[in-house]
Amino acid sequence: MKALVVKEFGGPLIAEDVPIPQPGPDDALIRVKACAVDQFDLTIRDGKFPTAKAPIILGHEIAGVVESVGANVDTVQPGDRVTSTLYLTCGRCRYCLTGRETICADFKGYLGIHTPGAYAEYTTIPAVNLVKLPESISFAEGSVIANAIGTPYHALTKRARLQPGEHVIVTGAGGGVGVHAVQLAKMMGAFVMAVDIGEEKLSLARDLGVDVIFDASTGDFSETTRTWTNGEGVEVVLELVGTKTFEASLKSLARGGRMVIVGSHTGTELKASPQAMIANEWEILGSRNVTKRELAEVVALVAAGRVKPIVTGTYPLEEAESLHQKLRKQEIVGRVVLEP
Ligand SMILES: [Zn+2]
Repeated sequence: MKALVVKEFGGPLIAEDVPIPQPGPDDALIRVKACAVDQFDLTIRDGKFPTAKAPIILGHEIAGVVESVGANVDTVQPGDRVTSTLYLTCGRCRYCLTGRETICADFKGYLGIHTPGAYAEYTTIPAVNLVKLPESISFAEGSVIANAIGTPYHALTKRARLQPGEHVIVTGAGGGVGVHAVQLAKMMGAFVMAVDIGEEKLSLARDLGVDVIFDASTGDFSETTRTWTNGEGVEVVLELVGTKTFEASLKSLARGGRMVIVGSHTGTELKASPQAMIANEWEILGSRNVTKRELAEVVALVAAGRVKPIVTGTYPLEEAESLHQKLRKQEIVGRVVLEP
């Protein structure tokens, strides 16, 4: 089969003919129809992910058709249209057993790192990770659901506990996760402020009907937040940027506010004053990906038209290298998808 292989970290994506991977007894072999391109792919190919080993085939945001299944699999069958959760989990620890498998205590790794990924014509995925896609959802749309919609869904519902009428700031609102986060927040009845850099990204947020737009290249958004909320601050910040916006995000929080950290591609340090945390009873929460149950809920919401997957372009596998270069320069708006 055709695949793009990273032979050595820091090196190029090399087109190669490689053997079709064989599914294990609990796996399905998937004919890849769409694979979204993610910032995480850059982290992996740059060699910045500790347990990744080269050579490697990237690609973990997947939609496709089940080609064949292992001997133990009866939850999907050949011909099923599917998407997948990203994490390889144990299924037995206290977290897996209580529907919190994204914090599995015996975490086995990720699709596209610890399994062969979907920058290829075929990939294998544990059947337990698969969620069926109805015909009404295209493969390109299906490929962005798990990460780009599932991640903010988990963050806003389970972690932030966002309520109707609350105010929420989404930092990085024009990125692949952000454009779906603002849709979800609006669907949940919240007032939404979108923060990002540059007109192209912000205009996408504007088209999605957010209440306030802030271009972070013009400075700190906390003053705008106070004006917007009559001095009170916001109940929730969804932090998709990290170190660069963290200070302004904290300054924007109302008393009792919750900040959920989903991404931090701009640094590894966060500073907060314990006194301010205590005085305001702020909650700073981490949020990790999406559970399988939640992914099924998101698929249903997308099928019902409540959330629109935003795919800003589909490309043949050969275009992956140039897409990665654009992603590195922050030139990708929304999510782009490869169709191997
Ligand atoms: Zn587990």
